[in-house]
Amino acid sequence: MVLHDSAGAANGGAPDAEGEERKKRRRRKRKGRGRRKTTAGEILASVYVRRWAFPDAPVLDGDSDVPAGGAERVVFEFHSHSTCSDGFLSPTALVERAHSKGVKVLALTDHDTMAGVAEAVEAAHKFGIRIIPGVEISAVYSPREESETEEPVHILAYYGSCGPSQFEDLDKLLSSIRDGRYLRAEQMLLKLSKLNMPLKKDHVAKITGNGVAPGRVHVARAMVESGYVENLKQAFSRYLYDGGPAYAKGSEPFTEDVVQLICQTGGIATLAHPWALKNPVAVIRSLKASGLHAIEVYRSDGKLSGFGDLADRYELLKIGGSDYHGRSGQDESDLGSVALPVLAVYDFLKLAQPVWRIAMQDMFSAFAEEPSDVNLKKITRFGKFQYINQCSGLSCGKDVVDLCLSPCLNNEEKEDSELEAVRLKLSDTTIL
Ligand SMILES: [Zn+2]
Ligand SMILES: [Zn+2]
Repeated sequence: MVLHDSAGAANGGAPDAEGEERKKRRRRKRKGRGRRKTTAGEILASVYVRRWAFPDAPVLDGDSDVPAGGAERVVFEFHSHSTCSDGFLSPTALVERAHSKGVKVLALTDHDTMAGVAEAVEAAHKFGIRIIPGVEISAVYSPREESETEEPVHILAYYGSCGPSQFEDLDKLLSSIRDGRYLRAEQMLLKLSKLNMPLKKDHVAKITGNGVAPGRVHVARAMVESGYVENLKQAFSRYLYDGGPAYAKGSEPFTEDVVQLICQTGGIATLAHPWALKNPVAVIRSLKASGLHAIEVYRSDGKLSGFGDLADRYELLKIGGSDYHGRSGQDESDLGSVALPVLAVYDFLKLAQPVWRIAMQDMFSAFAEEPSDVNLKKITRFGKFQYINQCSGLSCGKDVVDLCLSPCLNNEEKEDSELEAVRLKLSDTTIL
């Protein structure tokens, strides 16, 4: 907190009044729980966020609406990886660590796969942690102007508790990206062997793990194990960086197509780590036109990193996460280390909830039309199925809808007429 003040003062000079005012506003926003008193808006936002994060907690009425803990921050972690992509912890171990760090809502955002989400949901159940099913999709920005360059872009997608509404469409895209990663790894190994650093395919596969698509970090780990470099950082800074001597391009889809698909499948599309981009303005402008909802601007060092203004200019939500991979602590922000202002979380949930609700309605409607096992599994893909089996007394389709909805909607929303129609239709449907 003090750092922000001194950083502002250190800028010195004679900034124009407007700039100074903007900085002050930003500082005020960022400081949140600093010396300044919490505003009424923040308290209301905090109540909303808490209710969403802890749907089973008792609801208080009227003036006593502020729950115990008041505006105390509910820790959200919006960006994390497990062994299902290039993280070092299994989804279960990741959730356990998140719990130990005080995280209450965790988005698992593995690269190009949602394979770890069900396990994370299962593990999170006992800690009362909410999992946001997510994925970080590898894409490529294809420039429109000569002054720009093609570059890799990562797009985070966040879904409601039942996941994407057309999972098959998303999965098709993700699996084609994963297939591309196998080819890419082969090309990297070829380049490394030309650089007199031969690596065996099996060696990399062993590090990557069963069924996991290899990424640069897996190749880097094999390089460390073979003694070609001292650590992962060196592997990247000398050989594997974008355009580096052992770098190989993947066959990723275009960024705009990825954002559109996320929107079509009921997700919230977020640009990851824009500070890593060469053409951030061009990328953000183009993605906004395709339906982008948010960009990462908050980091564990607390800085908006200059992207807050860009987010405002393009009317995008501002969020952030640690991008935790579990690399045993070196140079890595831990889970829950990004202090998000409660208003940022509130804005995210306000935007996401109706989007997620529509996706869920689509899935429920498909199930109501055809209450088959296949359609039920689509709704319960991310772990809810296990609970249904565990819960006694769940015998009809309406119960499934209620169970899926209970953590997602407030009472008013549950009484939504379209949902009610689906519930009614399912009241006679027997679940085996
Ligand atoms: Zn990324
Ligand atoms: Zn990431």
